Amino acid sequence: MGKPVVIVGAGLSGLSCARTLHAQGIPVRVLERGRAVGGRVQTDEVDGFRLDRGFQILLTGYPALAQHLDLDALDLRAFEPGAVLWTGQRFETIGDPLRAPASMLPTLFARSGTLRDKIEVLRLRRDVLRGDDYAAFSSDDRTTLEYLQSRGFSERFIEQFFRPFLGGVFLEPNLETTARFFRFVFRMFSSGEAAIPARGMGSIPLQLAAGLPAGSVSVETAVAEVRSNGVRLEDGPWLEASAVVVATEATSAARLVRGIEVPPWRAVSCFYFAADRAPSTRKALHLDASSGGPINNLHVASAISPEVAPPNKHLISVTCLGGTNDPERLRDAVLAQAETWFGAQVRAWTPVRDYVIGEALPAQPVGALEPPRRPVRHRSGVYVCGDYVDQASIDGAMASGRRAAEAIAADQSREATG
Ligand SMILES: Cc1cc2nc3c(=O)[nH]c(=O)nc-3n(C[C@H](O)[C@H](O)[C@H](O)COP(=O)(O)OP(=O)(O)OC[C@H]3O[C@@H](n4cnc5c(N)ncnc54)[C@H](O)[C@@H]3O)c2cc1C
Repeated sequence: MGKPVVIVGAGLSGLSCARTLHAQGIPVRVLERGRAVGGRVQTDEVDGFRLDRGFQILLTGYPALAQHLDLDALDLRAFEPGAVLWTGQRFETIGDPLRAPASMLPTLFARSGTLRDKIEVLRLRRDVLRGDDYAAFSSDDRTTLEYLQSRGFSERFIEQFFRPFLGGVFLEPNLETTARFFRFVFRMFSSGEAAIPARGMGSIPLQLAAGLPAGSVSVETAVAEVRSNGVRLEDGPWLEASAVVVATEATSAARLVRGIEVPPWRAVSCFYFAADRAPSTRKALHLDASSGGPINNLHVASAISPEVAPPNKHLISVTCLGGTNDPERLRDAVLAQAETWFGAQVRAWTPVRDYVIGEALPAQPVGALEPPRRPVRHRSGVYVCGDYVDQASIDGAMASGRRAAEAIAADQSREATG
């Protein structure tokens, strides 16, 4: 067998790249610095709970999933379409009447949003569903806030629904993320489900890695230097390669190869709590529409998937936007706010683990997705992929990995015939 393509990083982009190359009969070797595959998508087991490293969801409409993922085998558990909003006094449901007809009445009567807002949501849905899946990336490039205002949504609806909902997707509350990404994501929410694998998001990279030949993925193997004909490992050895793919997050890529611009990062803090009693039986995202802070969103993870908690226990996941130097203090503030939502039962919640993730998502302000897909050929024999090369999502990471693999296959077959 010839020299393999060496892929640096076993996140979703690196694994998708490896799967695409393997499917074309090109030998691969994936080298991962961390203890396990998955990069930013991993699930930890703690005291019988399964905790995703930061709350994330899989949008089943993502076009890049089809090639390598067996969604049935992931045993996906879907969220209710829409969300439950905490308005300061009460919870209100904003449903998706087209997909969950029973949510029509509560949605119409919800005080968050005028009738015009609710009709405009349906029109927006219709508009984003036009064209192909990636049509959004050639649409208007302005901030999401400007875009929503231009469509005539009321300030109240933007504040109470879009700001917390999209804040949790973009990991920034100002809605300064380009409307191109918003329109893509809104199409994905409209065309498929928001779901989590029964045993946590970490099942996704595990499934991708399981489709690669035994021994082709090495963990705890950090790469220190990249050349077009191989890589040097941090502990010394040199590995020969027919080509190298840098499939790391932008910060590490900039250390390994020249000319990578590292976008500013969006940070997030996620807190998990155990409880004997579930504060809500809804399989829904609970959003803070009151701007009371610090909670952005909360859900009962064990209501979505009982497999993530031991029997008779419930797992609550809370997300706050931004990082913190003092997670305990932020956790106390989270509990104090949750008590205003659910009452004294919150005093019995016990912390399971906190995650403060400084480098969660590359920022995508206006201009960041122009062009929507950046080149995967870095220089002869060296390729890049990752969410910062495409759009900052599971879909972008996987699609960029596939693009890098296709570029390598095309270049190698040209060299072989030329
Ligand atoms: C908290 C959070 C919430 C998110 N929410 C969502 C969501 O709801 N929906 C969604 O679609 N996306 C979401 N995302 C984004 C999504 O998870 C990422 O876009 C995607 O996983 C990025 O994959 P990647 O392969 O580009 O990078 P990474 O996952 O960062 O993988 C890069 C890999 O390279 C490895 N590496 C780095 N340097 C080296 C080296 N020198 N040698 C060897 N290996 C190295 C790293 O250890 C890592 O494993 C979220 C991300 C976070 C963190």
